[in-house]
Amino acid sequence: MPRPPILKTVEVFASIQGEGLRQGEPTLFIRFAGCNLRCAFCDTKYAWEGGTETTAALLAARIDALRRRFPASWVALTGGEPYAQDLGGLIRLLRRKGLKVQVETNGTIFRPWKVDRLTVSPKPRSYGCDPRSRRAADEVKLVVAKSLTLPILARIRREFPPSVPVLLQPESNAPWSMAKGRRLLERAARAGLGNIRLTVQLHKIYGLP
Ligand code: SF4
Repeated sequence: MPRPPILKTVEVFASIQGEGLRQGEPTLFIRFAGCNLRCAFCDTKYAWEGGTETTAALLAARIDALRRRFPASWVALTGGEPYAQDLGGLIRLLRRKGLKVQVETNGTIFRPWKVDRLTVSPKPRSYGCDPRSRRAADEVKLVVAKSLTLPILARIRREFPPSVPVLLQPESNAPWSMAKGRRLLERAARAGLGNIRLTVQLHKIYGLP
């Protein structure tokens, strides 16, 4: 019988989803170690290397234990880049337990696993994604970094289905980034680009992990 894949995580915790359209909902998080990108603005650089080795069964047991104290119905698999690891078995296990699974990915690695919400966050410099990630996305999360311009936003808007919202998320809620996001939204609206919205990182406002 094949051995279950070894997974590497940096943290497992209960909190409130602070980003994207699920913002404000109680959520259990598994943050996976390792990322194939190196974004200058990354606020989880501690997840780039290392991590604790575990298995899907052990992670599911930790989620069960957390859920007894914090009865959330969603699990967010984040990172790092969660899809750099073999999470198919874990996702099936969590969904069999009746949990809804959200994956937050940079979109460069596509996986065919069925999830309940796929958040795709294209990153500089190329802002490139696997075309299958674009088709599977439920929402697009764009960090309003210095490198984000209206032509890049327009290109991303065209690349994803029109029904999929593009969320402009300020870099660490910094005032310059919030002001830039607002300007970009106004310019995008004048250019006829639809379904683009402003957001904030809610967990940072509430001081949550
Ligand atoms: S893709 Fe995400 S986790 Fe990876 S370096 Fe960029 S911001 Fe950090």
